[in-house]
Amino acid sequence: MIRGLMLVVQALLWLLVLRFVLRTVAAAFSLTRTRPVAPGPGPRPQVRAPEDLVLDRVCHTYVPRSRALVARVAGHEEAFCSAACRDRALAAVA
Ligand SMILES: [Zn+2]
Repeated sequence: MIRGLMLVVQALLWLLVLRFVLRTVAAAFSLTRTRPVAPGPGPRPQVRAPEDLVLDRVCHTYVPRSRALVARVAGHEEAFCSAACRDRALAAVA
């Protein structure tokens, strides 16, 4: 009688464990498979708005504004790709 009850409880526990494992595997599988491809509603975090570029007039390179070196040359601010370009512009003015 008690032995039969133990068997039933044991079977239920195994079913719970099995269900948990299956769910975890299914979740991991669906995450890795659908995340990069699914367009999905709402904003997608990996697609960022294009950052505006500024022209370095010394070497004619476009640099993202956040990475540009800004210096005041001959009274107005200019953006440069590197300290070398900034120094060349400053030297040309002086
Ligand atoms: Zn430059």
